[in-house]
Amino acid sequence: MKLLKLHDLYFKPYISKEEIADIVRFMVKQVKADLPKGEVPIFVGILNGCFLFAADFIREFNGNCEISFVKLASYQGTTSTEKVRELVGINEDLTGRTVIILEDIIDTGNTLQEIYNIFRDKKVKQLKVASLFFKPDVFRKELPIDYIGKSIEDKFIVGYGLDYNNLGRNYAAIYQLTTPPKMKNIVLFGPPGAGKGTQAEFFKKMYNLVHISTGDVFRFNIKNETELGLLAKEYMDKGDLVPDEVTINMLKEEVTKNNNAKGFIFDGFPRTESQAKALDAFLSDKGEQINAMIALEVPEDILVKRLLERGKTSGRTDDTDEAKIRNRFNEYNTKTAILKDYFNAQNKYFGINGVGSIEEITQRIAKVFDTL
Ligand code: AMP
Repeated sequence: MKLLKLHDLYFKPYISKEEIADIVRFMVKQVKADLPKGEVPIFVGILNGCFLFAADFIREFNGNCEISFVKLASYQGTTSTEKVRELVGINEDLTGRTVIILEDIIDTGNTLQEIYNIFRDKKVKQLKVASLFFKPDVFRKELPIDYIGKSIEDKFIVGYGLDYNNLGRNYAAIYQLTTPPKMKNIVLFGPPGAGKGTQAEFFKKMYNLVHISTGDVFRFNIKNETELGLLAKEYMDKGDLVPDEVTINMLKEEVTKNNNAKGFIFDGFPRTESQAKALDAFLSDKGEQINAMIALEVPEDILVKRLLERGKTSGRTDDTDEAKIRNRFNEYNTKTAILKDYFNAQNKYFGINGVGSIEEITQRIAKVFDTL
């Protein structure tokens, strides 16, 4: 899950779609348990925010019921206003019926008050209220809420039907308002030998960023014979990728060590889709994000020559043997190369011609950096 930008504001992941599904399922269970046998309830959804909740709720209900909607628009921007502005009422005859209101969120209780007012003179058998979210800190009414999905802190949320100035309703998860990202985070991308490490050295100084090379961290651990090093060695020696779980945990540790950084250059990470997703989730949890993937594009035959050349002096065993080098390309082509699409889909992919002198390539990268 990534940060959302809606109009001028940023929102970070707060409640996952899986958790929402669990909450809805639990609410339906409670509602069903309280219904008299054979009772056909009328669910009344409060538009607009409830439409996804109401849809999921009645699907989960899986029994005879009716559904209707009323519209009570009471929001403007990020604060609840005192005045309810608009009402589109119910046309059905509700006499003697069990009515269950479906609300996406109850905060001050103004909308809820309005709902109780409308239903006061309808001769319903019973009126119940089910709200997916509830903000106990700002609720100011003495009105019953029969079913609460989840109580949340008083921060503005969007997603799963809820909006900020009409945007955000379509997202499957709930996001919470957060401060704008402070970091500049770059993924330096490319096959083995593309020149990521060389270029990262330059840019980390120029932009005051922390450079994390997962390959370097592994090699450091191997040299110091740590547990992580011993584990990584068996994979690295063959030119295989180290398992995701190990790599992701290590990466998170490296980032956490530098929590006050102005940003990071990730070099050699992510290398699989699940690493990319883990990085997105990890950063967005902090209200941060990846700004760009800068990819050095170099043909494979040039890369093999470069790596064998480097192997003469680097002391890297994975650089001296052509079979191991070929295996690293194979790993890259089958697991890593797809990340181009992943970042492209977010308009964050910047391909750079990686053939030329170091200075030329630095200049090409700098051009992209300056636009970020
Ligand atoms: P590098 O220095 O980036 O070429 O990485 C050298 C080796 O370290 C790779 O061939 C892998 O065995 C391992 N490695 C580095 N980064 C990762 C990663 N993100 N995921 C899995 N393995 C990695």
